Amino acid sequence: MEQTLVILKPGTVQRGLIGEVITRLERKGLRITAMKMAMLDDEILRQHYAHLVDRPFFPWLLASMKAAPVVLMCVEGKDAVDVVHKMAGATNGRKAEFGTIRGDYSLSGQENIIHTSDSVENARIELDRFFVASDYCCYEPVLTPFIYAPDEK
Ligand code: ADP
Repeated sequence: MEQTLVILKPGTVQRGLIGEVITRLERKGLRITAMKMAMLDDEILRQHYAHLVDRPFFPWLLASMKAAPVVLMCVEGKDAVDVVHKMAGATNGRKAEFGTIRGDYSLSGQENIIHTSDSVENARIELDRFFVASDYCCYEPVLTPFIYAPDEK
């Protein structure tokens, strides 16, 4: 199964929305195979948001991502990267479609609830940034026949 990284941002933890967001992922049929809570530091955030370090809002983004713990998850499913990224919605919560996580829980371009990997390649890099092999829990996916057809790619 394809794996993707989900980060529930500090605002999500502070607002008590961890359960709401996880419930959406679970209801979709996605599986969580690694999960932990952590405080992120400048070093790992500078790696994770390397594409944004020169943007004027970067100091605010850093402060926001360090303001409280985050919840980090590996989420698995067929086409999980694309599915979870679409479930998150557009970056700015005011522009994200209703029915997406950001569209339903965010009013901000910065305070937007969730990070999701945007490609299969980046998902691998991002998962390896936050998790080691022993963090993953391999368990029997007993519901698979009720979520996918046997021949589904
Ligand atoms: P996404 O999280 O949708 O993949 P980006 O990788 O472009 O988007 O940005 C990473 C994070 O930086 C966003 O989720 C958001 O928290 C913050 N961000 C992006 N653009 C802005 C902006 N113009 N102003 C403030 N924060 C921003």
